[in-house]
Amino acid sequence: MTDSVAATASAAYDSALKVIASVEPRIAEATRQELADQRGSLKLIASENYASPAVLLTMGTWFSDKYAEGTVGHRFYAGCQNVDTVESLAAEHARELFGAEYAYVQPHSGIDANLTAYWAILAHRVEGPWLKNVGVKNMNDLTEADWEKLRGELGNQRLLGMSLDAGGHLTHGFRPNISGKMFHQNQYGTDPATGLIDYDALRAKAKEFKPLILVAGYSAYPRRVNFAKMREIADEVGATLMVDMAHFAGLVAGKVFTGEENPVPYADVVTSTSHKSLRGPRGGFILATEEYAPSVDRGCPMVLGGPLSHVMAAKAVAFAEARTTEFQSYAQQVADNAQHLAEGFLKRDTNLVTGGTDNHLVLVDVSSYGLTGRQAESALLDAGVVTNRNSVPADPNGAWYTSGIRLGTPALTTRGFGQAEFDTVAELIVDVLSNTKPGTTKAGGPSKASYVLADGVADRVRAASAELLDANPLYPGLELS
Ligand SMILES: *Cc1c(COP(=O)(O)O)cnc(C)c1O
Repeated sequence: MTDSVAATASAAYDSALKVIASVEPRIAEATRQELADQRGSLKLIASENYASPAVLLTMGTWFSDKYAEGTVGHRFYAGCQNVDTVESLAAEHARELFGAEYAYVQPHSGIDANLTAYWAILAHRVEGPWLKNVGVKNMNDLTEADWEKLRGELGNQRLLGMSLDAGGHLTHGFRPNISGKMFHQNQYGTDPATGLIDYDALRAKAKEFKPLILVAGYSAYPRRVNFAKMREIADEVGATLMVDMAHFAGLVAGKVFTGEENPVPYADVVTSTSHKSLRGPRGGFILATEEYAPSVDRGCPMVLGGPLSHVMAAKAVAFAEARTTEFQSYAQQVADNAQHLAEGFLKRDTNLVTGGTDNHLVLVDVSSYGLTGRQAESALLDAGVVTNRNSVPADPNGAWYTSGIRLGTPALTTRGFGQAEFDTVAELIVDVLSNTKPGTTKAGGPSKASYVLADGVADRVRAASAELLDANPLYPGLELS
């Protein structure tokens, strides 16, 4: 952000806050406070980032007021010519950025993108062929008995995704999520010895289970995935390959993941968020081959409500930003910084799942400190370090208490953190972990939730982080009056 952009953005936010305060001052105050809190905390949440003022300002406009169900040039509402411009530009930028045949930028979030993709794949692979078999051209010609059969076909399909404790996402067939209920689901994990995806075991499971959809992608796996191998396995069993790159889209956009590590040339359908490593507005999008495009295009109204046109506009701005060489340097720095962070832990004898990282995240196994993930997360938060607890493979403490904490580098890299800063971050985290002891339950046994952080540690860690944060300000030059 140049000085003149920062000065203009300062004026814009100052004015906006005054307008908001004229109606509900407490919301203006909370908005100011959120900026102060974000500036003052060491944010290591792997799924978060800081979007640019250009992206954020784009969301606050009258596009929010427009209904635009349908697709570009084919809307169920009148007067959508400007939304058409916005949606076309966002899709064009997404296609160019990722080298995709087709892009759909309407999904409101990552989960919406996945649900849209699942139904698009069902429409393409199941409903289409079924209608052809029955010889029906128009859905309106189906009898009630036909509908019953079609529902049966759609509801009898299989999905194979990565298990939650190996780093997969809730929407990849986990039971509490609709994806685990709408499909017969099965899961692949990681090799217990290495923590890495075992492609041979995955192939064997796929051959036995014969999924309609193979889902690759993760939220907490600290390694790269070979999508050429995923494609091979999908082909061997006739599955559609769907890759959910919600977490690592920024590394694909920034050309850190190329060749077999880039999902776009290998997958039939790629889903993503736009707000994680990609550093855009909160939202989702889908890339697809020409073959799947017409089904994905049915997302609204098949699954989605009216598109958030103001967010589609902000996606266009963010995708344009991601097409610059500056963004490529940023993405490379995100990956380099994850290496530095991992090295900082390893040299301080701290266990990492898979022994390291080669993407943007590090999964610390805190069990050798005698702590659960929940205790570690809380003690770190007391010291101003924001992380989230996360299961490790075959976690003895389950998905609630867990044995790990997940750390990501995208947000602090946006602030300008590099090698020295991430080494200090590892040092501070180790300081907290090694000075935290589990608390006791009322019955006197060891607690999985309560903890005791030694006196003085939180203050010393806060002071050291404040130095790092002050030296690497968030939105430099942006001042509110
Ligand atoms: C974050 C995430 C999602 C969900 O994104 P939301 O925008 O929160 O709905 C989906 N899949 C993966 C792999 C994710 O990491």
